[in-house]
Amino acid sequence: VRSALDAMREVATKTIDGRELTVSANIELVDELSLVKSCGAKGIGLYRTEFLLLNGEEMPGESEQADVYSRIAETMAPHPVIIRTLDAGGDKLPVEPLTDPEPNPFLGWRGIRVSLARPDMFRDQLRAILRASGKGKVSVMFPLISGLSEVRKGREMLKRCMDELHEEGVPFDPKLPMGIMIEVPSAAVCADLLAPEVDFFSIGTNDLIQYTVAADRVNPHVAELYRPTHPAVIRLIKRTIEAANDNGIWTGVCGEIAGDVRLTPLLIGLGVEELSVGPLQVPRVGQAIRSLNHVECEEMANLALTKGNSQVILDLSLDLAKANY
Ligand code: PEP
Ligand code: MG
Repeated sequence: VRSALDAMREVATKTIDGRELTVSANIELVDELSLVKSCGAKGIGLYRTEFLLLNGEEMPGESEQADVYSRIAETMAPHPVIIRTLDAGGDKLPVEPLTDPEPNPFLGWRGIRVSLARPDMFRDQLRAILRASGKGKVSVMFPLISGLSEVRKGREMLKRCMDELHEEGVPFDPKLPMGIMIEVPSAAVCADLLAPEVDFFSIGTNDLIQYTVAADRVNPHVAELYRPTHPAVIRLIKRTIEAANDNGIWTGVCGEIAGDVRLTPLLIGLGVEELSVGPLQVPRVGQAIRSLNHVECEEMANLALTKGNSQVILDLSLDLAKANY
């Protein structure tokens, strides 16, 4: 007897009026893969590789990383897997002894900044990701991009690693898609400059919200200010998606709000094409998408973009959610 979940896994996540969205999963550990598969995720939208640091202070070497990434790619095939390069620092696991105590960790040594400053470590990771791309459908994604030069430096290093592996006769995907997180306001504002240089955007709303409204994502004293539907946040999302569309690339959301079904109408309406959520949220988000009408969501989102109050914007999305599921 097929369970309801089995049946749902087969159904495409399309809105009532036929707009298809990908619902993929965020993972931190390889152990989560069986759960991801049973929840029916159409790929991994974010693999947070900083969790490899749990085993020590340094990242594992190239071949150990390649084994982990290959296992994920093979398990998820034919679905895609987006491997995010190390995002240590900030509220994350520190890379010791790379880091000294910092007065403002969120504004300091984290994400792509660490990778670019540690080219040997970055190279090991990119080579490991490329090796896995010979075993399944793999993309690479850079965290905490704040501008064009970081994207170009990342691309350069990726190219160098490809040339090396080619010389060595190691199989990899020469068309490996390279994407970036849009989670720093400067990246969202300059999305039109970044889009021509990459293959996709994934909006990291956890950080984008905190940096936009200057409210620490883990500080309860400013939690009131940390509003996913702040007008500035939704304008930045809209701007990012417009730049992506103008350049023929797709935009996903992999922050926590992607799994909040109160906001599914708003995100669909803003033009998001992929939602990457915790494995357990996959079925619920899929069901929300299948219950909504894209054109209605778009009209609501356009109205929301004219509003100046987070609660009003949340209520517009919530009303559409409640009317449909
Ligand atoms: C984000 O910032 O929204 C995100 C998905 O990345 P992380 O939570 O790992 O910073
Ligand atoms: Mg982030």
